[in-house]
Amino acid sequence: MKYISTRGKAPKIKFSETLLTGLANDGGLYLPESYPRLDEMALKNLRSKSYSELAFEIMKLYVDDNDIPHLDLKQIIDKTYTKNIFSYNREIQDPADITPATKVKNNLYMLSLSNGPTLAFKDIAMQFLGNIFEYLLKKNNQQLNILGATSGDTGSAAEYAMIGKKGVNVYMLSPQGKMSAFQTAQMYSLNENNIFNIAIQGVFDDCQDIVKGVSNDLKFKSKNNIGAVNSINWGRIIAQIVYYFKGYFAVTNNSDEMVDVTVPSGNFGNICAGHIARMMGLPIRRLIVATNENNVLDEFYRTGVYKPRSSDQTFHTSSPSMDISKASNFERFVFDLLDRDEEQLRDLWSKVDKGQGFDLSMTNYFGKIKNFGFSSSSSNHEYRVKIIKQMFEEFGLIIDTHTADGFKAAYDHMDESSDIKMIVLETALPTKFEETVIEAIGQKPKRPAGLEDIEKLPQFSVNMDNSIENVKKFIESH
Ligand SMILES: *Cc1c(COP(=O)(O)O)cnc(C)c1O
Repeated sequence: MKYISTRGKAPKIKFSETLLTGLANDGGLYLPESYPRLDEMALKNLRSKSYSELAFEIMKLYVDDNDIPHLDLKQIIDKTYTKNIFSYNREIQDPADITPATKVKNNLYMLSLSNGPTLAFKDIAMQFLGNIFEYLLKKNNQQLNILGATSGDTGSAAEYAMIGKKGVNVYMLSPQGKMSAFQTAQMYSLNENNIFNIAIQGVFDDCQDIVKGVSNDLKFKSKNNIGAVNSINWGRIIAQIVYYFKGYFAVTNNSDEMVDVTVPSGNFGNICAGHIARMMGLPIRRLIVATNENNVLDEFYRTGVYKPRSSDQTFHTSSPSMDISKASNFERFVFDLLDRDEEQLRDLWSKVDKGQGFDLSMTNYFGKIKNFGFSSSSSNHEYRVKIIKQMFEEFGLIIDTHTADGFKAAYDHMDESSDIKMIVLETALPTKFEETVIEAIGQKPKRPAGLEDIEKLPQFSVNMDNSIENVKKFIESH
């Protein structure tokens, strides 16, 4: 299996190379040359597997044995998806589950993805990346400087996954004062030799632009072995594909049954994995993109017009991990939508890279969005509060603000008359965003043990203005 860049001007590379490269040298994102297809028989065989068995069966389809021997891959996966790492925040009945599904009511389910160390779904991919990075760096006798941008959850997931990993340093850019108190404490309280928190004066998109700016300086990038763990990293997508299968098997009995899946979305990484699961043959009827007030993606799926916004037009909301107005992984979906026509993709993204948008509403491609099963909805603070309250009062379920955006979209799209099941992905535990949860239900969600006083710990971070050059200098001097 070789990987190609969406922009078609970078050499094809192997799986292990996509992990260490991040963005392709032509500015594009890596995707496999083709998606492996699983038929009904294959799905049937996967149905009864434990999480780590399933992860191996799916991921090995994307990794050549002569790139990473499958026996090694299996060991890395088995080491990652354990009860110790993933049922640490919640009583999980079956530890082999990792991502248990809860029935909320008839045909409505929640798939819990937030049982890892930082209480958000990003742990699922990041813990895998941490282990596979350490494996590869050791094998290649290499050092990696990970440069990332976070709106809150990526950063902590990356840092906790890289603590003590040999050969890895982490430089994490976060928007100053824009994360929840808990998120900030989770990241900045780390005092590790290989982890650097850089607080940028700006919003998440500014941080992401700095990462892109540094990565586009190819000389700097190769001299300093800069790598990425942002959701553009193919290793994250591949690890996220797994739980779509797990969730599907958990709520269905037969592999010809269709389901709908709603995904709280920001950078489009999570739902991109859902798109790929569907391309592999998982019977997903609809993928529903749930956005908050930053509804650029919702606007695209409704109108065919993609208009990324600048950072000063990006709202700071109570579901901050979705405060994104330029979704990196969206490029992967549009590549497939364009039948993988790299020239057209380059044309569209030359506009996006200049801060402009594009309009597909008058093209055949817009009609094809339906063939890919996509629908969308947006939410806002009022809905979040209402839904959190409603889920608590009706079902005794306390959900976080991002998951609430998901349920809002799911309710918009559920049709009670059909018996198609709807799965909403839970992307974080309510503790991470407890300010809004308290506003909604008048009580504080119970914190996982050991995290009760995390805000009181000393914090370690460096403040910096919005400057590519300053970040480069910092990395070089460390
Ligand atoms: C990152 C994140 C999202 C958005 O996921 P994307 O992959 O960026 O679309 C949603 N909710 C939470 C809690 C997150 O941390």
